[in-house]
Amino acid sequence: MPARPAPRLRADVSQLPRYVPGRAAPSDRVDKLSSNENPYPPLPSVVAVMREELERVNRYPDPANGALVTELSEALAVPPEHLVPGTGSLGVTRDLLRAAAGEGDEVLFAWRSFEAYPQLAWANGATAVQVPLREERHDLEAMADAVTDRTRVIIVCNPNNPTGTAVHRDELEHLLDRVPGDVLVVLDEAYREFVDDPDVPDGIEVYRERPNVAVLRTFSKAYGLARLRVGYAVAHPPVAAALRACAVPFGVSGLAQAAARASLNAESELLERVRTLVDERARVTRTLRAAGWTVPDSQANFVWSRLGSQARAFTDACEAAGIMVRPFGDEGVRITIGTPEANDRLLKIASDWRA
Ligand SMILES: *Cc1c(COP(=O)(O)O)cnc(C)c1O
Repeated sequence: MPARPAPRLRADVSQLPRYVPGRAAPSDRVDKLSSNENPYPPLPSVVAVMREELERVNRYPDPANGALVTELSEALAVPPEHLVPGTGSLGVTRDLLRAAAGEGDEVLFAWRSFEAYPQLAWANGATAVQVPLREERHDLEAMADAVTDRTRVIIVCNPNNPTGTAVHRDELEHLLDRVPGDVLVVLDEAYREFVDDPDVPDGIEVYRERPNVAVLRTFSKAYGLARLRVGYAVAHPPVAAALRACAVPFGVSGLAQAAARASLNAESELLERVRTLVDERARVTRTLRAAGWTVPDSQANFVWSRLGSQARAFTDACEAAGIMVRPFGDEGVRITIGTPEANDRLLKIASDWRA
């Protein structure tokens, strides 16, 4: 056959930054502390609802996520038209960027922050502008200084993945006062349920007063439904409507909608698990510091340490002992808080490492 030309694609696509996921666990015996997952399996009540839902998978799910929206609306005290569920908060972030930032526009966020932001920004044709962290925290003053006429979206990851640090209420309000009202500020609160510092604002309270603020939440972390892919945005009507316009129809599966509703129903039980993880976070932080590690205060379900060039070697030492942690180049490692037993095993290796 004569050579045929390959399909013509967008010229920039081959150059896009790729999302680098954590590696899969090689077996169930490994302690996976590398992807910020909840170590506890779904509650029996949630599994029972999913079993029933399995009988209906020949039918399309409710494209409006009606029941889930109604229940979230009551739980959060926000109007239903301000709620937009999507395929994980990643899916919602993609739709938000698609709605707000195209070719020639800038999407501003801290760095290091969530690994998906550069890819999602560039895949939409927008330019990612990364403002360095300062002492492992968002430098909101520098971020406000970096706003240009082209800035359409600012993402504040609160608490920040992978450093765990959180922005305080006064800093955030100051940023919002400085940023033009026609720039969308997205508060990515994937770890909100793990926050115990009263100075860290609840994004939902901030959004109520600010038409240019949208909040992202997820069922993946605290609620333990990472594999189902369901999260949501809370945003004022023009933004919420644009989000719906950009979403893939039927994106959130029936299984995900049902499990999310069942999890809201079992919230107090789930939040008890979150409290256990928050207590473990304090213990892991304390023990690491006592062993000579530098660990910033974390408000999420993971801790961060800037090991520099030792990040890889520490990751390998953990792996040899059946524990997966997440290295970020030669910057540092992120360690997800697991069950007390898994944390004990991690702490043993970490203490020996420094000794
Ligand atoms: C895990 C994570 C998400 C992704 O959540 P999904 O709902 O599973 O897509 C979003 N933002 C941050 C900062 C995260 O760490």
